[in-house]
Amino acid sequence: MSAQNTIEPPVREPGCTECSCAEPQRREESASKFRRSVLTLLAVVFAAVLIVVVVGEWLGRFEAYTERVPWYAGVAIVVLFGYPVLRKVVQAALKRRVTSHTLMTVGLLAALVIGQWPTAVLIIFFMRLADYVEHFTTERAYHAIRELAALAPQTARVERNGKEHDVPIETVAAGDVVIIRPGEKIPVDGEVLSGQATVNQATITGESMPVEAVPGTKVFAASIAQLGTLRVRTVHVGPDTTFGRVIRLVEGAETHRADVQRVADKFSAYYLPVVGTVALLTFLIGRNALSTAAVLVVACSCSFALATPIALLASVGAAAKRGLLFKGGKYLELLARADVLLVDKTGTLTLGHPRLTDVVPLNGFSQQEVLRLAASAERFSEHPLADAVRGAAAEQGIVLAETEDFRALPGLGVRARVEGALVSVGSRRMMSDGGNGPPAVGTLEAQGKTVLYIERDRALIGLLAAADTVRPEVAGALERVRSLGVKHVELLTGDTEQTAAALARTLGIAYRARLLPEDKIAVVKEHQAQGKTVVMVGDGVNDAPALAQADVGIAMGAFGSDVAIEAAHVSLLRDDWRLVPEVLSIARRTMRVVKINIGFTAVYNLAGLLLAALGFLPPILAAAAQSLPDLVILGNSSRLLRAQPHR
Ligand code: ADP
Ligand code: MG
Repeated sequence: MSAQNTIEPPVREPGCTECSCAEPQRREESASKFRRSVLTLLAVVFAAVLIVVVVGEWLGRFEAYTERVPWYAGVAIVVLFGYPVLRKVVQAALKRRVTSHTLMTVGLLAALVIGQWPTAVLIIFFMRLADYVEHFTTERAYHAIRELAALAPQTARVERNGKEHDVPIETVAAGDVVIIRPGEKIPVDGEVLSGQATVNQATITGESMPVEAVPGTKVFAASIAQLGTLRVRTVHVGPDTTFGRVIRLVEGAETHRADVQRVADKFSAYYLPVVGTVALLTFLIGRNALSTAAVLVVACSCSFALATPIALLASVGAAAKRGLLFKGGKYLELLARADVLLVDKTGTLTLGHPRLTDVVPLNGFSQQEVLRLAASAERFSEHPLADAVRGAAAEQGIVLAETEDFRALPGLGVRARVEGALVSVGSRRMMSDGGNGPPAVGTLEAQGKTVLYIERDRALIGLLAAADTVRPEVAGALERVRSLGVKHVELLTGDTEQTAAALARTLGIAYRARLLPEDKIAVVKEHQAQGKTVVMVGDGVNDAPALAQADVGIAMGAFGSDVAIEAAHVSLLRDDWRLVPEVLSIARRTMRVVKINIGFTAVYNLAGLLLAALGFLPPILAAAAQSLPDLVILGNSSRLLRAQPHR
């Protein structure tokens, strides 16, 4: 157990990091890997021989070979073998810091003092073996993350002065036009200027369905263009792209290990004094140096510090491969005890591509004119409803008017100056006439449609109705969410009472309507105030603050939505509701593994401590015994790396 940090790398490996594996340089990686393997092999052979000899002596089968080795030779072996570990303990001691390796060193010194150098060697051997296996496990978890980062495009084919140039990605700037041929990776985030292709994001999001890209479509770095050539105007490059943010997010997950580590450190703060006391009592009461050494030795396992972070890291790494990104392992702990699931409606529960179904002109305006003014006002809005309005206008071949002073009022609608007139589009609450609205409204809302009001210079000129489809997999996903123990599911929406009620009834969930973004935060806080762990699922449109406020905010279809990625704690790169129960079940599986890890270690260490204190465990066996929990934890946790999605 490494109780305190003994070195100061900015980010440290979890658990015992006293080996040299903390921050491997990529270049030296394979060389050091080879060296490490050879040294480990030699150490294993040496230790195996030593164990056979010592056990043989112990059973009286061999003569006392080890006793014939002079004491200074024994010390020399220990120092040579244990140099990397011992150096760090000394460094820590000079800074007045105690680590569990300090404890181990005391045990080791005790073993030397009573003349058992083989025990001292074995302590160090098992320590370093555990380090090695741990390194192996964490590397596999990081590998998944690095694999993702390796997908980042390195070069782009840029059009300059009518010619195409292959240039390094760093030299591409916003506004540059890049060409992407069939089968190539799209190097930037941007908008298609000309050409047509199917774009596949499977490597990043796991979504196997390619999307059709035509002029005007937004495309994203690291996705692959197939069956066609695209000319794309660059909007974002490198770290500013969605992909760049995703990578940063997952890499950020590594720093969260520090949080988890702190928990382990806190635990060690209690554990070390207990061990110290048991050792002292053994010495004072039993007057037995051998037992005292055994107590110190058996306690020096780093299992407790490993138990949690290794499992979390394995899960985070495995999930990243499948397009589920966790900003930190601690969200797995929170998800495992989730009580309440809050879901945003538009774009989250529904497909988010509402279609305009009705245009109701009022007060002498024509259908065309109402749609033209509404679509012009919505020109710069990113809301799914705005897409529906603009889409309907485009279908009718309507040319949009110039728009000035555009303003989006989150959860309400938009307002802009169109041809000199002030045009508002949105819910009834933002209209100057707060009355009941025309009779048509009731009929439309009873059909579960969302009604938008259009005002021109404060006079109602018409209504638009849009219908959105509930994602087909939602009902089944919510069923699983409930079976995973999250009993309360609630729909949060800025839409009207009637529309929300109709939807909530079909899904059998609770609902709250007419919420502004700040009201959504308030609902999250309300549940939290009751001591509930709140998970919120949203798409980042008008719900980002609530996502951030929730204990765990999950962003759906986050690929392409920077707001969602920034605000949420977990990003699902794919638009698939089945990933929500999946995330919950990953969390549960992970915490089950953590519990097994901790439970096993606790029982094992306690038994070991007791046996050692009572003198039933000679130091040499204690040294061998203390390494077992580490190996069990590593093996148990690496199951999570292989974990397959439940379907
Ligand atoms: P939800 O909570 O269902 O995801 P929002 O909070 O995004 O919905 O929006 C709530 C309501 O605000 C919508 O039902 C609509 O009436 C209105 N609204 C928001 N943005 C716009 C917009 N760009 N155009 C028209 N209406 C909008
Ligand atoms: Mg929304």
